[in-house]
Amino acid sequence: MNEATMFKLSYGLFVLSSQFDGKDSGCIINTAGQVSSVPNRISISVNKANFTHDLVKESGKFNVSILSEAAEFGLFQHFGFQSGRTVDKFAGYSGCARSANGIYYVTEGTNGYISGTVEQAIDLGSHTLFIAAVDDMDVLSEVPSATYAYYHASIKPRPETSGPSEKPAWRCKICGYVYEGEELPADFICPLCKHPASDFEKI
Ligand code: FE
Repeated sequence: MNEATMFKLSYGLFVLSSQFDGKDSGCIINTAGQVSSVPNRISISVNKANFTHDLVKESGKFNVSILSEAAEFGLFQHFGFQSGRTVDKFAGYSGCARSANGIYYVTEGTNGYISGTVEQAIDLGSHTLFIAAVDDMDVLSEVPSATYAYYHASIKPRPETSGPSEKPAWRCKICGYVYEGEELPADFICPLCKHPASDFEKI
């Protein structure tokens, strides 16, 4: 079995945001899609390690902001490289607004957003699959959506490949996140793409 086959699947990139008990947060996900047309339903799959996962589970409400090719790496760092458990990602963040459901959506580097209400939550192990009714949505720009492949090719900074590196580090083969340190903890989870330590290579 060739496990690299999974990399042939194509994905988009999204900021999933939610609110519960007065707390707002958002994280990067790569799995959102329309799964039925009548009624109109979407699905999202969210790693349980994300604080936003818990907000969606508790509130049953979320927004999916669709990232476009105009999204800058800083947006991925902001929503992907830090945890909503320790940082209020929307505090002072200018590129966002609240939709009719009261939840933030991202207005810059995006081309649309969809508001959903959870109808089913299915425990898949590392992730929960949420199936949701579409409550509201709008187009924000005509810039093409950023695919996962586009992120790798054009948004993510190029890894430094020349010269001996001064510091030992490990790079996530999936998203390019770099962990600095001689040893990568066995239970390490990539803060951006949530892949495990086995998907890191020493650089
Ligand atoms: Fe990663």
